[in-house]
Amino acid sequence: MSSVLFLGSGGARFVVARQLRSSGGMWFRFGETQIHVDPGPGALVRALSQVPPCNPRELAAIVLSHKHLDHAGDTTAMIEAMTSGGFRRRGTLLAPDDALDGSEATVLPYAQKFVERIVRLHEHAGPYDIEGVEFRSSMRHVHAVDTFGMHFAHDGLRVSYLPCGRYFEGLADDYAAAKPDVLILNVLRFRDGMDVDHLAFDDARKIIERVRPRVAILQHFGTKMLEANPDTLASALEDELALRVIAAYDGLEVDLTDEVAAVAV
Ligand SMILES: [Zn+2]
Ligand SMILES: [Zn+2]
Repeated sequence: MSSVLFLGSGGARFVVARQLRSSGGMWFRFGETQIHVDPGPGALVRALSQVPPCNPRELAAIVLSHKHLDHAGDTTAMIEAMTSGGFRRRGTLLAPDDALDGSEATVLPYAQKFVERIVRLHEHAGPYDIEGVEFRSSMRHVHAVDTFGMHFAHDGLRVSYLPCGRYFEGLADDYAAAKPDVLILNVLRFRDGMDVDHLAFDDARKIIERVRPRVAILQHFGTKMLEANPDTLASALEDELALRVIAAYDGLEVDLTDEVAAVAV
């Protein structure tokens, strides 16, 4: 059985700064293997306050799509928690170079020594094995810093995560090639016409239409998306595209195996 628990569903500066939605990232369970993706501010607190708690000492890996605060703010704290304060060297950290190197590394160098393995993410990296889960990275996203999406495969289930970045056709094609059963997308903007490196809702629609996963999950909402009501938008998209579309909220746990099985019939 595979699942994802949203320790946060917010994105962008204002939503994160005011914690209108939490920013703890996603906690995946692929069978016995647990992987935490994008531990933004509050990730450790959110993980431990779940009922039952998500236990960082059981994590096989922490993965960063990119170094921005809303994705990486709690990485050092999570590494300390995963490695019992550095006393038990274990786990894998997967992150782009610029999250690890230089004076603006978001993973503090001392904590990088606590993990057993560091995988530097590049375009189309992998496959890597994370305790029985196959991991590959996507093409490079168009975003201010090194940014890569993720393709997980476990027990016949393929799950892709498309993090922040500007829309272009090649992006949809790259994710379509991975043929995910489940596609999780960061949809920060609704319809603002702003020229920024983030998906707007209509971009997300185009990508979902092109990739045609069995289940699409929208998350990482900015203010305008929250005002537009992600639930309503997801239902409308579900009817329009005739596939399952879910809007994430803080604390939502999705049984991915069940969701995919439910629409496969
Ligand atoms: Zn973001
Ligand atoms: Zn970003």
